[in-house]
Amino acid sequence: MKLLVTAGPTREFLDPVRFLSNRSTGKMGYAVAEAAVLRGHEVVLVSGPVSLPPPSGARLVRIVSARDLLAAVETEVDAADALVMTAAVADWRPASVASAKLKKRTGADPTADAAFRLDGEGRATLRLVANPDILATLRPRKGSRVFVGFAAETGDPLAEAGRKLAEKGLDLLVANDVSRPDAGFEVDTNAVSILSPGAPPEPWPLLTKREVAERLVGRVEQLLRARRSGA
Ligand code: C5P
Repeated sequence: MKLLVTAGPTREFLDPVRFLSNRSTGKMGYAVAEAAVLRGHEVVLVSGPVSLPPPSGARLVRIVSARDLLAAVETEVDAADALVMTAAVADWRPASVASAKLKKRTGADPTADAAFRLDGEGRATLRLVANPDILATLRPRKGSRVFVGFAAETGDPLAEAGRKLAEKGLDLLVANDVSRPDAGFEVDTNAVSILSPGAPPEPWPLLTKREVAERLVGRVEQLLRARRSGA
C-alpha cells in the first residue's frame, strides 16, 4: 500500500527569528514510516523540523508551517491509500509575520494589522489566527482511503478522542495521555488507546513507539484489505 505519514511539529513564525511550536520530536511518526517501509509499503513522510535521521526507504518531504503541511498533504494524498496524521500541527499562527526582527523597545506598531504590539508599558500582545485543520480540509477527498489521526490529551484522553474521531470522520484515532511521564512527547514509549467507529476504545499496554507503529500499520493493512475485498 501507499502510505502518507506526517510527523513532527510545525513552526509558526512571528518574525525572521522567532516562532511558536510544540514539544513534538517526530518519534512516533518516524516510527510509523519505518514500520511501514519494513512491511514493504511505499511511504511518503511529510515532516516538520525534527532532529531525527530520515528513515531509509521513505520519500521525505520537509515542511515548516501548518500551511506548508496542508499544501504537501494536498499534493500527496490522492496517490495514497492511507493517511496517518501523526504531526502535531500548531492550531494557531501569528496573524502576520514581521519582515524584520521585532524589537523590545519600539512603541506601539504603527501598522494597524501587525500581530505583535507593544503598549509602551512593558506589555506585549501577539494576535493569533486559526490554522486550517488538515484532516477536516481533506475529508471530502477521503474516498476509500484510510485516515488515521492522533490525539494528544492531558486529562481524560478518551472523552476528547471520541469526539475527534467523529468530527474528523476518521477510521482510527490513536489517543494518548501526554501528561503521563512515560507516554507522548519526547519519550520512546507510548500508552495509547485505539478508537474506531462503532467499537469500544481499545487500550494498548505501554509499548515502545516502534511497537505502537508496527501494530498500527497492521491495523491499517487490515482495514484496507477489508475495504478491497468489499467487507
Ligand atoms: O484536534 P487535534 O489537534 O487534537 O487533533 C489531532 C489530530 O488532528 C492529529 O492527527 C493531527 O495531526 C490532526 N490535525 C490536523 N490539522 C490541525 C490540527 C491537528 O489535521 N490543524
